[in-house]
Amino acid sequence: MSPLPPTHVRLAIIGGGPAGLMAAETARAAGIEVDVFEAKGSVGRKFLIAGKGGMNLTHGEPKREFVQRYGARAREVGAWLAAFDADDLREWARGLGVETFVGTSGRVFPSDLKAAPLLRGWVHRLRESGVRFHVHHRWLGWHADGSLRMATPEGERAIRADAVVLALGGGSWPQLGSDGAWQPWLADRGVTVTPLVPSNCGFDIGWTDHLASRFGGSPLKPVVIHLRDAQGREHSRQGECVITATGIEGSLIYAFSGLLRDAIAAHGPTTITLDLAPDRTLDRLRADLARPRGSRSMSEHLRRQSGLAGVKAALLHEVLDRDQFHDAETLARTIKRLPLTLKQARPIEEAISSGGGVRLEGMDEHLMLNALPGVFCAGEMLDWEAPTGGYLLTACFASGRLAGLGASRWIHRSVENRTT
Ligand SMILES: Cc1cc2nc3c(=O)[nH]c(=O)nc-3n(C[C@H](O)[C@H](O)[C@H](O)COP(=O)(O)OP(=O)(O)OC[C@H]3O[C@@H](n4cnc5c(N)ncnc54)[C@H](O)[C@@H]3O)c2cc1C
Repeated sequence: MSPLPPTHVRLAIIGGGPAGLMAAETARAAGIEVDVFEAKGSVGRKFLIAGKGGMNLTHGEPKREFVQRYGARAREVGAWLAAFDADDLREWARGLGVETFVGTSGRVFPSDLKAAPLLRGWVHRLRESGVRFHVHHRWLGWHADGSLRMATPEGERAIRADAVVLALGGGSWPQLGSDGAWQPWLADRGVTVTPLVPSNCGFDIGWTDHLASRFGGSPLKPVVIHLRDAQGREHSRQGECVITATGIEGSLIYAFSGLLRDAIAAHGPTTITLDLAPDRTLDRLRADLARPRGSRSMSEHLRRQSGLAGVKAALLHEVLDRDQFHDAETLARTIKRLPLTLKQARPIEEAISSGGGVRLEGMDEHLMLNALPGVFCAGEMLDWEAPTGGYLLTACFASGRLAGLGASRWIHRSVENRTT
């Protein structure tokens, strides 16, 4: 088959997730011709999955706390959010006819909790504004002459662009399109990329068959987690998690998954402790459990005196032998500090998101790569991470907007230079 003729476009946006679409919208509003190239047959697949259990778009907490959720990258992501924050995102959704509300946890959801109407309305508005979509177009890196290698249903095509926004996503749930294949292509062009790692992920512990088969999938709430990070700092928080067949996951674990992942990488298997009865003091548990149990079984005694049964009781059995379980003092202490050793993070394919990616130090304030002038990056492929709670999408939108703005300026400036 003879090669397809090269095509020239003004702004090529590669990746049709929330970051790429926001870049497209921003650039189009700045008067730029925009072509979006998407490997899959439709855009926004991960956005739709994110909406499955209730689309958590952003968070309603005060700006100062919000920004701290980006941890080591609070300063950089804070700069993106200064131009487009949670309130702007809610306003943007309203512009698409989607009202939002703040849930009891502070999380912000569309009033119907769904992602599909929002995405549908958005893509329609983008098309109406003149954005051209090219699905089934997989970017494969660059030709030696700097043009983009694009696999299309008709064959491979070279695409020249005045500017490019890469919004290729991270490495989680690769079946939805973001597979991290871009990492070596960027590294080969002199871009510093930290390897993608799982974030907002579960961890393997290794349960007995009994616990795995009887309680895999059981929610554990409320509990308080205590842990020590790779630097030896203590962290505690109350919340909810889920016992899985191999270990533990859920929002409380996700909130610390980056710290736990890094602690395991630095020091090997890492022990957290869980307080299974946050509303009872150790003294009270100790006194209650020391009461005579008569002819009742120890499990029944535990249930009556501490309120613990089901998965919480099973976890105590998991870490205590028979004698320890019958010793009121040991039992009370273990209820308040159940030790669980996390061996490894679950694979990136199962994680909600990924950490690592294109280092922000190698970019300017509009997210243009120093190593590749005219090429901008946005979204989860950048080297930041945050817990679930709407922080991921908010930063993807904000960075997409910034990259779209930067690419528009770049194109305007290059046109001006050509005409003067
Ligand atoms: C199960 C699940 C639930 C989630 N829930 C939430 C939530 O409630 N709230 C929240 O804030 N976040 C949530 N997230 C995370 C959020 O969905 C992502 O952070 C966000 O979608 C990332 O946006 P992005 O545009 O950077 O990348 P993506 O959404 O991953 O989009 C990247 C796009 O680039 C395309 N692409 C990749 N490589 C190529 C290539 N070579 N050529 C062409 N196209 C390519 C992909 O097909 C994809 O369409 C959830 C994620 C998962 C998996």
